[in-house]
Amino acid sequence: VHTNHDELLTHLRTTVGEASVLTGDGLEAYEVDWRKRYRGRALAVVRPRSTDEVAAVVRLCRRHGVAIVPQGGHTGLVGGGTPDDSGRQVVLQLGRLNRVRAFDEANFSMTVEAGCVLQSVQEAAAARGLWFPLSLAAEGSCTIGGNLATNAGGTQVLRFGNARELCLGLEVVTADGQVWDGLGGLRKDNTGYSLRDLFIGSEGTLGVITAAVLQLVPRPVAQVTALAAVPDLDAAVSLLRTATARCGASLTAFEVMNPLSLELVARHVPGLSPPWAGHAVPPSAWTVLLEVSDGESEAHAQALLESALGEALEHDHVLEALVASSVAHSRQFWHLREAIPLAQAAEGLNLKHDISIPVSRIPAFVAATDRSVQAVSPGARMVTFGHLGDGNLHYNVQAPAGVEPSGYLQAFEPAINACVYDAVQAHGGSISAEHGIGALKRDELERRKSAVALALMRSIKQALDPADLFNPGRLLRRR
Ligand SMILES: Cc1cc2nc3c(=O)[nH]c(=O)nc-3n(C[C@H](O)[C@H](O)[C@H](O)COP(=O)(O)OP(=O)(O)OC[C@H]3O[C@@H](n4cnc5c(N)ncnc54)[C@H](O)[C@@H]3O)c2cc1C
Repeated sequence: VHTNHDELLTHLRTTVGEASVLTGDGLEAYEVDWRKRYRGRALAVVRPRSTDEVAAVVRLCRRHGVAIVPQGGHTGLVGGGTPDDSGRQVVLQLGRLNRVRAFDEANFSMTVEAGCVLQSVQEAAAARGLWFPLSLAAEGSCTIGGNLATNAGGTQVLRFGNARELCLGLEVVTADGQVWDGLGGLRKDNTGYSLRDLFIGSEGTLGVITAAVLQLVPRPVAQVTALAAVPDLDAAVSLLRTATARCGASLTAFEVMNPLSLELVARHVPGLSPPWAGHAVPPSAWTVLLEVSDGESEAHAQALLESALGEALEHDHVLEALVASSVAHSRQFWHLREAIPLAQAAEGLNLKHDISIPVSRIPAFVAATDRSVQAVSPGARMVTFGHLGDGNLHYNVQAPAGVEPSGYLQAFEPAINACVYDAVQAHGGSISAEHGIGALKRDELERRKSAVALALMRSIKQALDPADLFNPGRLLRRR
């Protein structure tokens, strides 16, 4: 193994071109994560334009014993795509692999390169009258490669599943620099281990995703959203049951937001005001956002929502409801929900817990965890919101009002995490619903995952990446 970095840089420049190998200062966008929690230093940021170039870069780095950190839109929330601070890792930035390779409308699929930005994929599908339903607040900058590497969830999981369920095939560059072409686009393929599923959710630790076949669905004729004020989380869970019964497969989103999350949005995001101003809704009420996607008409979608909300109002599970009257109105409701992470960032660093719990146990989980967090940190501010329909909550904790966030985080993070993750375990949940493990939750994973599961995961890593070339120390400890 050669470790001559200058020689590696020279080879990289010859292989992908001078302009595609960035070194020196000014690389913060690649070296500091979205939350500004992780600050690394890269030997170089390499921006290949094709799968063959990716494979050549992997072979060169492998020959020189230099680790590779795959990176897409760099919107990940667990520090998985940020280099460490050694100055000896290469960031493999995939943004230039951004072509739509093929459409197969009869197969309801499209083949795209890994660096395509999610929103541009949604738009390309829409231009053909089809829908790629993966949707999350970072869709303007996250990439398909990153979505698949983290098995992203988002707002449509209730109906369409995670990124995994929306992927029919992959192309991957392996740790020895070979290209695995798994772009068949089949819905049925029982020819042994599912390699595709192994790479999905592997967070860049097993291979570099360079392209994918994505599953498309017919575009709904109408999408209508509603907001409902509910007295508490028990009522929100009851509303979910009612809405599922009334709307069936048309119910495509069911999001919940606690009062503080909407307060922060109103404080930090210009143009967004609290939805219940002027209504007889107590300040302690939670807000639910429901979305119906309908194959018939806007009026039909509105009628479905009105029937679900009407029944819930009768049973006092809903205090007040607003059904969007136009597409712009629906967008406005979504904007409230999607602005929460940005509002939280503006309020200051915070502790994020992206967890899942069986839906039925969520009210008890939140009540118990609120109590135990307040016991270790009186005045801590809970910003609790998320995809209640999938049992996925973002249980985030902001420093008490007026307390400087970074010092607070340092002092309280371990104790608050212990409260939250102990409660997650006690309620049969998962410590990472959709954001992944990365650097942030690696040690927590070791504490919480069974010894058998960890041993199986290490065997897979050893088999596919024996030299620990891809993302060492992320997801699993370095060997
Ligand atoms: C405002 C905001 C809202 C968000 N909302 C959601 C949400 O609702 N649901 C959700 O699941 N996530 C959410 N996220 C997290 C993030 O957007 C997703 O994880 C996204 O899928 C990451 O894509 P990316 O291209 O930015 O990946 P990056 O951040 O660049 O990378 C993420 C991980 O994937 C690896 N990786 C990236 N590209 C590749 C590749 N081509 N091959 C192999 N490995 C690769 C990286 O090494 C890293 O470990 C949100 C983030 C933000 C900032």
